[in-house]
Amino acid sequence: MKVGILGIQGDFDKHRKLLDDLQTESIVVRYESELSSIDGLIIPGGESTTLTHIIRRTKLMEPLKLFAEQKPVFGTCAGLIMMAKSVDDYRIEPLGILDISVSRNAYGRQVFSFSETIELSDIGKQSFATGTFIRAPRIKSLGTTVEILAHYHGEPVAVQEGAHIGLSFHPELDNELYFHKMFLAECESKINFTDKSNVA
Ligand code: GLN
Repeated sequence: MKVGILGIQGDFDKHRKLLDDLQTESIVVRYESELSSIDGLIIPGGESTTLTHIIRRTKLMEPLKLFAEQKPVFGTCAGLIMMAKSVDDYRIEPLGILDISVSRNAYGRQVFSFSETIELSDIGKQSFATGTFIRAPRIKSLGTTVEILAHYHGEPVAVQEGAHIGLSFHPELDNELYFHKMFLAECESKINFTDKSNVA
């Protein structure tokens, strides 16, 4: 299995380190051609206005949407904003991978960044996880097919729809492996499913 990390802007290197710790091969993705060799894609945090600008300039908008129709995508913070269906800022062109609407910078300014404990919905394995919120987006509404994976102060901060996962916060800054493991399990099950349908 090989995971791609969109490396056009933001903290992609931190995700790479976490994947190294999980003994998972990864590559930094900057061009459309690189998408064909990976089993899942991480869109890291950063700045969604800049991400929109570079994705447009490098003509990655359509290839990323097509990729998400076939393989899992995992976004953190600005990555979640890019995965949303609608964003409260006309400068952002989101990819519409998750049926959610988000509000940018809703958890305060950079100086109010905080590392916090969040409550996981699936308390079977683990009840809490840690995440850092940096000018984090708030998930304002979600479609009926979107599942909430975690709450912070009663609000959804981690969601899943099909194989895709999006978080308002950064787990990679706290070496929190819970969501990366979940994403890798989605990539794995997609590979197994594809292998089987090739045989059938
Ligand atoms: N506030 C940023 C944005 O709107 C996201 C911040 C982050 O990714 N930590 O793009």
